[in-house]
Amino acid sequence: MSEKAPIQFLDLPRQQARLGAPLRERIDTVLAHCKFVMGPEIEELESRLCAYNGAGHAISVSSGTDALLMVLMAEEIGPGDAVFLPAFTYTATAEVVLLLGATPVFVDVDPATFQIDPANLAERIASIRAQEELEPRVIIGVDLFGQPAPWEVLRRIAAEQDLLLMADCAQAFGASLDGRKLGREALATTLSFFPSKPLGGYGDGGAILTDDAERAALYRSLRSHGEGRTRYEVLRIGLNGRLDTLQAAILLAKLDRFEEELERRDAIACRYDTALSGLVVTPQRVAGSKSAWAIYSILLPDAALRNALQAYLGQEGVPSVVYYPKPLHEQPAYAEHHDETITLPVSEGLGARILALPLHPELTDDEVARIIAAVQGFFARERGA
Ligand SMILES: *Cc1c(COP(=O)(O)O)cnc(C)c1O
Repeated sequence: MSEKAPIQFLDLPRQQARLGAPLRERIDTVLAHCKFVMGPEIEELESRLCAYNGAGHAISVSSGTDALLMVLMAEEIGPGDAVFLPAFTYTATAEVVLLLGATPVFVDVDPATFQIDPANLAERIASIRAQEELEPRVIIGVDLFGQPAPWEVLRRIAAEQDLLLMADCAQAFGASLDGRKLGREALATTLSFFPSKPLGGYGDGGAILTDDAERAALYRSLRSHGEGRTRYEVLRIGLNGRLDTLQAAILLAKLDRFEEELERRDAIACRYDTALSGLVVTPQRVAGSKSAWAIYSILLPDAALRNALQAYLGQEGVPSVVYYPKPLHEQPAYAEHHDETITLPVSEGLGARILALPLHPELTDDEVARIIAAVQGFFARERGA
């Protein structure tokens, strides 16, 4: 056992200390004006989000999951509709589809970047069309672990197939592709401000970005019970899907430090790459992109070695997490919504071999060195054994 304090996978106490007085001042301002629902910080945050990546409209909402739900509700997605999405993602991407009575169609991912595999997507669309039971409507691209999905190909497939393209950017706000910040790759982009995401609040939160003014108005209505021009004009069925003013205030304080955090994350990722590339498979960069590094996942040759490494790291005070132990189509909640004769071999294999190391801006250089030394120590022991 290491004598030093255990390293945190997410270090919110340190984060608060680093953000310091500006964070408290933002919170105190809200406590003073008491506009806890749709207070002035909401509009301020929405303009800051637009300015950040050039999106025409930003609509802050209650969570990344509700953001996905509202985008699908706006398109009236429902029973009989097929929504294509990667099998290797967080459950939220798929659950909203089933909540609306539509059918998720799971697509395999690329073995090197873990992003949706366009060739498999094209096959899955063709087979759903051939069955003539479901109507293909939407593709949800997911910017997994902080890196962009293959947006250029996804846009081409969506256009050719006359499908709507949306972006689940919950893990990748702050990432860029070809020099531009993500947020305008699809008709609508959804963000999450869950505390562990690159731009995390201190509670739940999310946003929808779009360049389409009509859809933006629709999302604003949906997040407030389907309201019309006044609060008591009810145009449609909506949600209580607003972001809290307090969360907007916290996010505004955090946005001031966000670029610096992204730089720190990238510097740590580069140190891991250099130190570990001979021992494990380090994350392959999506061409032309800069990751937001929500998650730094390495690959081991097999489950036995991965599990042994995870146990060893634990003893050394280094936490690690498996994202995701099982692809969605193998989860109990989704099994009946997937044709079991269709295998998605990459997604099915990754859960046994993948492991995420701690990566966040609060890690000190010394802690990064300890994490690297722990991985190296494990392989030295393996070789010695
Ligand atoms: C976190 C996450 C979500 C959901 O965001 P919440 O704010 O937790 O509702 C959706 N999709 C992906 C890929 C995520 O990682």
